[in-house]
Amino acid sequence: MAAPPSSVLAFDGGRVLAADPSEAQRVETLLARLQPELLGLLPDTSFEDLDVWVQDTPSLYMNATEASTDAEGLWSPTHQRIMLSRHADHIERTLAHELTHAALGASWGLLPGSMEEGLADHVSGSLCESGAARLRAGRLSSACLATGGVSLQVDVMPRADASPTGAVRSGWSACIRLKGEADGTDPLDVFRLAAGLSSTRLESGAKRGFYGLAYLAVSRIVDRAGYTGLQDLCLRAEEQGLSHVPAGWILEAAGLDAAPASWRGAAASAMGEAELVELVRMYPDFVSDAVQGYLTSTGASDTHPGDLEVEISLREGSATVLLSQIPDLQAKIAAALGRSGRATVQVASAHR
Ligand SMILES: [Zn+2]
Repeated sequence: MAAPPSSVLAFDGGRVLAADPSEAQRVETLLARLQPELLGLLPDTSFEDLDVWVQDTPSLYMNATEASTDAEGLWSPTHQRIMLSRHADHIERTLAHELTHAALGASWGLLPGSMEEGLADHVSGSLCESGAARLRAGRLSSACLATGGVSLQVDVMPRADASPTGAVRSGWSACIRLKGEADGTDPLDVFRLAAGLSSTRLESGAKRGFYGLAYLAVSRIVDRAGYTGLQDLCLRAEEQGLSHVPAGWILEAAGLDAAPASWRGAAASAMGEAELVELVRMYPDFVSDAVQGYLTSTGASDTHPGDLEVEISLREGSATVLLSQIPDLQAKIAAALGRSGRATVQVASAHR
């Protein structure tokens, strides 16, 4: 077994084991907020005494050979223990996700396949507003990537206020489709495969795809009927003596059908401006490629990227953002293009 972290903080309801007392205290402060809020949010939830271990890599065993289930967090029902990576992208959100697994009562056990992962993600987004757009962008884009890809359009043109008055502004458009390694997934496999279990061996791209599809289905049901609407499906299945909620019930409640295109369109439509900004941050290369394409094709290579209007839109769905809304990325692209511009000049002078 992995050795426990050295610093132990006991509190009412469990213990935090971390590298030092201040790290333990930080996690305990998060628990004190998240646990009661989670109980208020979801029906049929409760907490037994639990341990939270803060580790570099969350693992139960010294030499972990199995891929960890959520990479940044793990829940072991046998040990009543959450293992949390201190390097998690958003430690509070990861903790909220694992706490959801810990709190779910028996009725939720009727959710099929990977749906519990979608629920844990959805709850973590509800409880941690600051990480929610990033989480949604990650999960919804994964759902698109599993079912055909994310289609985007980038339009580049000179900014109106940087052009001579009355001048014709000619623009340049690129259509881009981001493709994922999990492309071609049958979305109904989300009800058959438990992507969150370490015993389910899946490539990381496939795993992300199932997390995305599960998140999409859960969020559509919760939008329509709340968490109680989702739980009602479990209770109804239980009453009818079923072992799991049938896939057809979930499709109906979520307003989805079996075709990948229905999931892809729903995931793209669920992305708003905040999620599109996060998506652009995740895949900045397609934007800089489009700006470079514009500069090359128009011969306007001395144009500063700040004098361009760069609009990025989702082709399925309605979200649109301007690159100027993401100033740090705009500056990064300008710097990269500036460097390559200077490099070209240097090469030219070397040949003179
Ligand atoms: Zn999980």
